[in-house]
Amino acid sequence: MRLSERCYAVTGLGYSPPWCVNAGIVAGDSLTLVVDTGGNTLAAQTIYGYAFAIRPNNELRVINTEKHFDHIGGNSFFREREIEVWGHSGIARTAGEFHQEISEFNAAIPDAVRRERGEAAAFFYDTRVANPNRQIEKDACFDLGGCSVKIMLTPGHTPTNLSAWVPEDGVLFTGDCLIREYLPNLDAGTPADWQVWLESLDRIEVLEPKIVVAGHGPVARGDEVRTVFQNVRRVLTESIERGSSPTANRSKRH
Ligand SMILES: [Zn+2]
Repeated sequence: MRLSERCYAVTGLGYSPPWCVNAGIVAGDSLTLVVDTGGNTLAAQTIYGYAFAIRPNNELRVINTEKHFDHIGGNSFFREREIEVWGHSGIARTAGEFHQEISEFNAAIPDAVRRERGEAAAFFYDTRVANPNRQIEKDACFDLGGCSVKIMLTPGHTPTNLSAWVPEDGVLFTGDCLIREYLPNLDAGTPADWQVWLESLDRIEVLEPKIVVAGHGPVARGDEVRTVFQNVRRVLTESIERGSSPTANRSKRH
């Protein structure tokens, strides 16, 4: 979906129910930036297809907003095409962790026949672990040709989270620093991490984005943006006061 002159969102990519996950595209004059690669190679093919079609002569570059597999699962598809994948230096996933993810997916299949067939392997068809080959350790700026994207460290959900801000278009891609409709997932961190998360929200809310593409859920526009910030802030504040996440002991994968 086109959001602005330069920015696009690919929404509704599959992950374990009820989760779908988003990706973003920012097309400059010479370079097209892909924000996150979905959870698997099939999602990456879709994202790549849109990114290529918008400006077929552009070079492509990927940035990962965090380390969880729903945002980096499609990396191997891009790396196999020698497309640079940028991401926080703390993203260092292993094949063992990926196999554990596949096992958890398979165990969650409701139908016993499909579970025994190992149909989680279909979801992760032709998908391998690929960490970023270009590391980010502090805020950065990408020049896409006629358009710049500010990469901002926004830790809290995980230490590896970052956001991509396109000031000319007023569009902000946040990964899971923000989330819409779903409860944010606090289970990857502690109350101290959630405090850091609140500080990250301060950093990006002051930008006054017109459009926010969160890691999960519908794109937010106009007044909806304020509501998304308020909702995540409220969950974080309540969880810090309580000392536990609203989904303690549940899924840690998003
Ligand atoms: Zn996620």
